[in-house]
Amino acid sequence: MIDKLREANWGTIKTREQDAISKKHLPKIKSFFRMQRDVYLKQFDSLKDLFPESSRATRTAYYFRLIEQEGRANLNDFNRAWAVTENETTATLQSVVLAVETDAMEQGGDIASKFFDADIGGTFNLDNPRAVNWFSQFGGSTDYIKGIQTTSKNQIKTIVTKALDEGWSYNKTATQIKEKFTDFTHPRAQLIATHESAQAYEAGNRIFVEGIADLGVIVIKMWMTSMDDKVTPECAANMADGWIALNESHTSGHQNPPRFPGCRCYEIFKEKGRNY
Ligand SMILES: [Zn+2]
Repeated sequence: MIDKLREANWGTIKTREQDAISKKHLPKIKSFFRMQRDVYLKQFDSLKDLFPESSRATRTAYYFRLIEQEGRANLNDFNRAWAVTENETTATLQSVVLAVETDAMEQGGDIASKFFDADIGGTFNLDNPRAVNWFSQFGGSTDYIKGIQTTSKNQIKTIVTKALDEGWSYNKTATQIKEKFTDFTHPRAQLIATHESAQAYEAGNRIFVEGIADLGVIVIKMWMTSMDDKVTPECAANMADGWIALNESHTSGHQNPPRFPGCRCYEIFKEKGRNY
């Protein structure tokens, strides 16, 4: 019973702290997408003359270019505009993501220490070699950042392809692009904030716990879900494993949550054989 209370307590504290971290960073991630929208639209602006417009002068100029086969905007123009945008925004995106992770890992390490008796020892800070290693592997990783950029690119590309096929005006296309950014900003920023804080928070927990395992403490762990009807069967199966050894994988093959972006699970730890 005391164990169960302690587990519920872990859940409340971890969920609350992770929420606070993702809430704190959400506006920064949103403003990143707004900044990126502006950078892209500025690039896109240079393609203005390649779109049919309603004003007679520009329309005439446009048809002249068509006759001369010099062109209309095409996907290569779009790709170039996006490449410049991606190049100009990648460093900012990386630093926004790193800021979430740094905060979350620090708090994750700190909170893990509170769930063991003080006499057990152990410390956590970001200079810990395991933390340094985690950041070099996952922290704002190139693949992850690239993935975010590619998702944006594909969303915009869908609009541009349609605009080219249907002969939209520059203004209509630019408006649609703006709307697309507005639509995806909140849900994507939310997902990035939640997932990155969960990952780094769990890593912080884990790094502290591995530190005390180094001191000879035998630590066991358990996967906890939110225990509602939104929990996936795979996460539920991990929880059904019960307490397992620190280095054992859960049924899904994961060492610890989150299992996927949007996974709300968390890991709890305790010294083997000790009840709270
Ligand atoms: Zn889960």
